[in-house]
Amino acid sequence: MSNPSITLRTGQVKGKMAKIIELKNISKTYHLEKVDVPVLHNISLDVTEGEFIAIMGHSGSGKSTLLNILGLLDKPSSGTYTLASNEVSHLSDAQLATVRNKFLGFVFQSFNLLPRMSALENVLMPLVYSENGKKDSSFIKKNHNNAIKFLEKVGLGDRINHKSNELSGGQQQRVAIARALINNPTLILADEPTGNLDSKSSAEIIEILKELNDSGITIVMVTHEADLAQAATRTITLQDGVIISDKKNKKEINKKVIVSAEGFSKNISHHIFKLNRIKDYFFQAIRALMSNKTRSALSILGVLIGVTGLIAMLALGRGAQETTRKQLANLGSNILMVMPGSSMRGGVSLGAGTVTRFTLQDVTEIKEKVPGVKMVAPYVTGRVQIVYNGKNWNTRIEATTGNYQYLRNAVPVQGRYFTDEETTTRAKVVVIGKTVKDQLFVDTNPLGEFVKINKIDFQVIGILPTKGSSGFRDEDDKVQMPINTAMFRVLGKEYIDSMDVQTIDESVMDDVSKRIIKLILQLHRQPESNTNTINIRNLADIQETVASTMKTFAYLLGSVAFISLLVGGIGIMNIMLVSVTERTREIGLRKAIGANNKDILFQFMIESVVICVMGGLIGIILGSLISISLSMFAGWQTEVSFSSILLASTFSVLVGLIFGTWPARKASLLNPIEALRYE
Ligand code: ADP
Ligand code: MG
Repeated sequence: MSNPSITLRTGQVKGKMAKIIELKNISKTYHLEKVDVPVLHNISLDVTEGEFIAIMGHSGSGKSTLLNILGLLDKPSSGTYTLASNEVSHLSDAQLATVRNKFLGFVFQSFNLLPRMSALENVLMPLVYSENGKKDSSFIKKNHNNAIKFLEKVGLGDRINHKSNELSGGQQQRVAIARALINNPTLILADEPTGNLDSKSSAEIIEILKELNDSGITIVMVTHEADLAQAATRTITLQDGVIISDKKNKKEINKKVIVSAEGFSKNISHHIFKLNRIKDYFFQAIRALMSNKTRSALSILGVLIGVTGLIAMLALGRGAQETTRKQLANLGSNILMVMPGSSMRGGVSLGAGTVTRFTLQDVTEIKEKVPGVKMVAPYVTGRVQIVYNGKNWNTRIEATTGNYQYLRNAVPVQGRYFTDEETTTRAKVVVIGKTVKDQLFVDTNPLGEFVKINKIDFQVIGILPTKGSSGFRDEDDKVQMPINTAMFRVLGKEYIDSMDVQTIDESVMDDVSKRIIKLILQLHRQPESNTNTINIRNLADIQETVASTMKTFAYLLGSVAFISLLVGGIGIMNIMLVSVTERTREIGLRKAIGANNKDILFQFMIESVVICVMGGLIGIILGSLISISLSMFAGWQTEVSFSSILLASTFSVLVGLIFGTWPARKASLLNPIEALRYE
């Protein structure tokens, strides 16, 4: 791993002041689209520790450019810059960030405080990016005390918890100075620190800088006010990128330089990413989100809706699956459902009369001639009007034989089912479902009562067990009667609609269905090839069909939820991009005080992940609530599974990562000087 560590050493010799800055033939040219703008020309300059340098010059003479180069925010086009005996041109961006964080303090004309933070928090900010190993409680406490000490030093001891935008300009600049001091800098760079201040505040700020210089910190300050420059020990004047004068002021150079030797001899390695920074980033993200609540809420909404949909849809899907599974399990696994087949073969109509319609004779023959058949229950269905005591109800007839009650778990809960004898004699008896009972009989016991169906009196002999609803059909809204009664007295049908054949066990099912087809074709004098005029299905087939329908359904629902998550993600990306633009200056400042690209990248990534995770969490709760209320009020079975919660959480984190990457990358690649200059 290439992780070269550098050592900043002043090479201080006893009794002799060391050079902290050595510039040799520094030139800087900005390359615009078509033209080159030369700004600095062959600047050579030495600064000794303990000096207080004022750089003067007209606007546009290159003062800020020079200061930015000194502050490692910008690189010269040519020439060498040696900072504390280290040639800085070979340092990586991350190392430069570390040097800025540890050895330099910046004071800007426009203060650059973060408005939503207190004075104290602003002062503590550079510590987010310092790599002092473990940030344990003693470290935090020590720096807390230091921050308060520095705020007191600049005269703001009574304002430490004020939000920075509640402070006056002069007070804000004092906070900025305290911030520059928090990492015990060796060199403070100030670019027109009094440019936005009235003369009284200006004088106070200069006084503070002088005191700092007296305590041993080297200061380079840009100003264009001559009387402020008087405070400095040396004044350098720039004109059109060239030093035109360099004067020592009368004032003695500070002799008691107590250069923080410890700071200078420490090794700086690459800014190593540390886990405990995540915690800092996380708090920064929460702060940023809290500072613009409406916008954060709106961006959370997109993911929230997606996740809510995902959870509710998965719960519904699972519920439906579970219901179907139970209903199918009720049927028993050794039942064949025999229905007339389609009259089409290979897309060609076989013509009328080729549909096989079963008769009661077929049923008898199957029962007698096909080995392996245990029971056969034929069906005829139709709709009828049923009347009792002036009350009318339209319901479905399911007419069959006595076997049905065992085949389909329909043994009456009250009374009895009809017998085979009643079937052959076309007895006028009826077994009713719960819905019919509720509709016609309020207080009376239906058993033994007579109802009218097609003007014929039927005696109620039993009440069917409740089955609930399957999809849209109420399975309890029906009456059952002997099939012969229904065919010849009520519905006037000659043929039966379908039949259920129960085999002795599952192993013979294939064989039985082949034999049934063969037998029926024989009985109806149809060619053996007409097999598809009879449709036989077993439970496994139906289960397979249902399962594949469910799967399609689940994919459909899933893709709807996925699309809403996608839309939510795009919304978040949009808002993050706006946020990056809005906070360009903040990003510039963070870089100036020691954040490297990775720090900025992570900060914004975590912000977008936090938005998504919040949306995800609320969505999971909301989706579960919706599922529960659907079960409670609409009677749909739902099931919120752990796996769907896991899926939703994973998705929200992924959306945050995927859609946060671009804005975060954009933020991390911002050039610090341009970012600081951004209006
Ligand atoms: P001062 O701080 O002395 O007022 P600056 O150092 O800010 O001057 O700028 C010096 C010159 O360099 C100006 O003419 C300015 O227009 C030009 N300049 C500064 N920054 C850039 C840049 N990023 N791109 C092009 N020209 C620049
Ligand atoms: Mg300037």
